[in-house]
Amino acid sequence: MCGVFGIFGHSEASNLTYLGLHALQHRGQESAGIVSSDGARLHVHREMGLVADIFTAEVLGGLPGPSAIGHVRYSTAGGSYLKNAQPLMVAYAGGQLAVAHNGNLTNAQALRDELEQSGAIFQTDSDSEVIIHLIARSRQPTFEQRVVEALQRVQGAYSLLFLTERKLVAVRDPFGFRPLVLGKLRDAHVLTSETTALDLIEGEVVREVEPGEMVVIDQEGLRCSRPFPPSRLGRCVFEHVYFAKPDSVLFGSTVYEVRKKLGMQLARERPAQADLVIAVPDSGVPAAIGYSQVSRIPYDVGLIRSHYVGRTFIEPQQSIRHFGVKLKLSAVREVLKGKRVVVVDDSIVRGTTSRKIVKMIKAAGAAEVHLRISSPPTAWPCYYGIDTPSRQELIASSHSEEEIARYVTADSLGYLSLEGLGAAVGDPESRTFCTACFSGKYLTQLGPTPSRQLKPAAA
Ligand code: AMP
Repeated sequence: MCGVFGIFGHSEASNLTYLGLHALQHRGQESAGIVSSDGARLHVHREMGLVADIFTAEVLGGLPGPSAIGHVRYSTAGGSYLKNAQPLMVAYAGGQLAVAHNGNLTNAQALRDELEQSGAIFQTDSDSEVIIHLIARSRQPTFEQRVVEALQRVQGAYSLLFLTERKLVAVRDPFGFRPLVLGKLRDAHVLTSETTALDLIEGEVVREVEPGEMVVIDQEGLRCSRPFPPSRLGRCVFEHVYFAKPDSVLFGSTVYEVRKKLGMQLARERPAQADLVIAVPDSGVPAAIGYSQVSRIPYDVGLIRSHYVGRTFIEPQQSIRHFGVKLKLSAVREVLKGKRVVVVDDSIVRGTTSRKIVKMIKAAGAAEVHLRISSPPTAWPCYYGIDTPSRQELIASSHSEEEIARYVTADSLGYLSLEGLGAAVGDPESRTFCTACFSGKYLTQLGPTPSRQLKPAAA
């Protein structure tokens, strides 16, 4: 889970990258970085923290030139250090190179072992660094050919931006796990994880970078190629469920519309006798509105979210995360008192958040709480760049719906079906989406011991 943004051919490249990253902040809040090129050399600034705090006018003034790439990062537990902040930047025989990666490689550990045995010294524990080593070792004559040769060896999820002194290169893996969009701002070319960043800078969407496509931008213009064999599509359905920003157009559909459809379908599949539908803000709001429209149960605001704390998950330690729920949400007693309430959230991971929320709503006087989840049970970890914990920590991997309802102290619990999810994203049989976190159907080989995978530090 990360966000990437890049721009080529604009006198204010780093300022625009700053704005782009600000729009993508929901994709990662641990660290942020920008690398710019003035045509002769690269300039870098990376720090732990939020985009708006890191990039002052003074810092941006130190990032000159007409092209830039940027990254916001969100790793899983561990690996949350400045040295892993991206874009990673190196100097090698071919010149200077920066890389920003959204996704997670599934064979990074094997490649890293192999590279280390032949003498490579790694500077980070990020899986993305493997790609840099492979590029540096390639004997191919052009930078593009080096990138292709390197990426032919890696497996997993990657939406990548590379910046050299004179080129911006974007590549999306053949499954298309993570989004990547091509846009324009007058004569400048833009690349972004989500369209919301183009809206902010008043640019326009051109199209998605296709799965398996490479886009090269330099003084001569923009060239596209398809250097990788086509594969089944595996666009991440969880981007629609939770991760992307609702105003973005993702994989051809507006996230808000998809989330609302998820809620509508949920109301058809899992009705409830209730007086009120409320959302767990913010990610549950569109689905709750959809649920209310189909069920004809009035929608109201029963939980208020503080906008001064980050996403609940963002703190790696359990203790802080628990505390975070109370910091983040508060119940509106007047709305909830004596009511039978349908509470709509997008997913249950460990169950700890839901439990606290249900208790909070009951403590505010609700007569009954019927929890409805706008996705199927999350029972399998993601190895493609979404931060889900190990299988043991996922409550749905070892507990039935009734057991989970009891644990979270809800009067009833209902998840959306996998078919219902497919219908809402316009792909009933999930032939073009990756649903591994719900179905356990992984689209790539994970190797004999997935637990040995590197932490998805770039994710
Ligand atoms: P839990 O307490 O572990 O069940 O947390 C579930 C909550 O976390 C839900 O409200 C989701 O909106 C949110 N959530 C689900 N997946 C993620 C994720 N990968 N990262 C951060 N938050 C998530």
